[in-house]
Amino acid sequence: FQVPEAVNEPVLSYAPGTPERKALKEALEEARSKQIDVPMYIGGNEVFTEDKRPMSPPHDHQHILGHYSYGDASHVEDAIKAALGAKSYWEELSWEHRASVFLKAADLIAGPYRAKINAATMLGQSKNAFQAEIDSACELVDFLRFNVKFMTEIYSEQPQSSPGVWNRLEQRPLEGFVFALTPFNFTAIAGNLPAAPALMGNTVVWKPSNTQVYSANVIMEVFREAGVPDGVINLVYTSGPVAGDVIFEHPDFAGIHFTGSTGVFQTIWKKIGENIHKYKSYPRIVGETGGKDFIIAHPSAGAKAVATGITRGAFEFQGQKCSAASRAYIPRSMWPEVEAFVKEDLASIRMGGTEDFTNFVNAVIDEKSFDKIAGYIEEAKNSNVAKVIAGGNCDKSKGYFVEPTVILTEDPMFTTMREEIFGPVITVYVYDDARFEEALELVDETSPYALTGAIFSKDRYAAEQATNKLRNAAGNFYINDKPTGAVVGQQPFGGGRASGTNDKAGSGLNLLRWVSPRTIKETF
Ligand code: GLU
Repeated sequence: FQVPEAVNEPVLSYAPGTPERKALKEALEEARSKQIDVPMYIGGNEVFTEDKRPMSPPHDHQHILGHYSYGDASHVEDAIKAALGAKSYWEELSWEHRASVFLKAADLIAGPYRAKINAATMLGQSKNAFQAEIDSACELVDFLRFNVKFMTEIYSEQPQSSPGVWNRLEQRPLEGFVFALTPFNFTAIAGNLPAAPALMGNTVVWKPSNTQVYSANVIMEVFREAGVPDGVINLVYTSGPVAGDVIFEHPDFAGIHFTGSTGVFQTIWKKIGENIHKYKSYPRIVGETGGKDFIIAHPSAGAKAVATGITRGAFEFQGQKCSAASRAYIPRSMWPEVEAFVKEDLASIRMGGTEDFTNFVNAVIDEKSFDKIAGYIEEAKNSNVAKVIAGGNCDKSKGYFVEPTVILTEDPMFTTMREEIFGPVITVYVYDDARFEEALELVDETSPYALTGAIFSKDRYAAEQATNKLRNAAGNFYINDKPTGAVVGQQPFGGGRASGTNDKAGSGLNLLRWVSPRTIKETF
């Protein structure tokens, strides 16, 4: 099948004087100057409720961007009905029409909606202009375009036939509805989790994180303008447990597409297990969960490259990435140089609101996250086996600001070496140069997660050793680069162990989970 070629959307620079910068500044001003009233979207209807919840920039929590209508169990039930009602129309539409809708959505985001969706991500989730561009413009566009390419590859994969017999595979959408439960940290992921199953012919109930509503609303506006039919993607805002109680009891529940915490995913899995006898089919369970992502430097590595890997891997996006580097293993001979480079980088980093484009670090998402992160930093400050050697200040008076923080520990099992923090904090353990192999063992055994990791080494044999020894310690493994920033179509993304089902976002493997093949043998 021929579809428009999928190429990664170029990242615009936003340098002073560029048209994209002007458009973005205007979109930010417009968004800040008014308050919007955000509805849920169920079966094509805008649904408003009396229960209005405020939306504020995490870096300026007293400013109100608007309110969103909060729903209850009845709205989730209505969303399921709408999804089931739209199903036969949507799945009988030829795949070219489904593809066209999402290709148009990609074009709308890359073009007329680019400034608006980036401004929404900057204000609603406190990302700087460049990070918003990478996330809500480029990565979301890439997901939508590459999904179409992967879909056609899946459809064209056909079994052998023989004279008098024609064998074919029909990729049927799942029987029932799909639930997309999406995170705050990436607008792209929030958009892709409902879009991928919908592209494959499924209808969806979508519940975003309550801290990502502001940009979710723009995604839905784009989907509607692109022609996603009423009822195909139904957007509800409510609490996770309220939605879960309705969804996981329903006989037509056919699958969940999830990104979020390991704890929530395990609760969901149990709930599905308890209800398994109620469903028509075994549901597809696809989840990307937590991480405790590592950097290990071999003594042969360049200290500057390692330091850049730490600064960028740990502190970009305020460390609010499942992939963020949050533990580092550095050889003793190299540590003084790495430490000096990291401190030099940190001295040049500015922290503040996203409207000022010179701020590199912005706020973490909400008070709950802030308190959790601050608690880990406090634990390190009070410990006699760890100390804070850079950053460490936290201030929530205006916004939820946590300074990029480096903790040094002599205990490789210290809490912040093991537990996911989801903030701009990295813990360093210095190992004796001669004990590289033992350090690899520590990397493998310290945490239950296995999402991303990186080895820095100029020595090819050491890189090989790390690659082999850490085979199951990361689903995305980087040699001489930071463990973040996977690009759709280039580094399919996902991990195993406690980090998820590893169904690789940005690949055909993921789309395969949203279809159930039927083999048809026809004899002539
Ligand atoms: N795909 C992103 C990366 O490679 C991370 C996504 C996430 O945080 O869930 O950095």
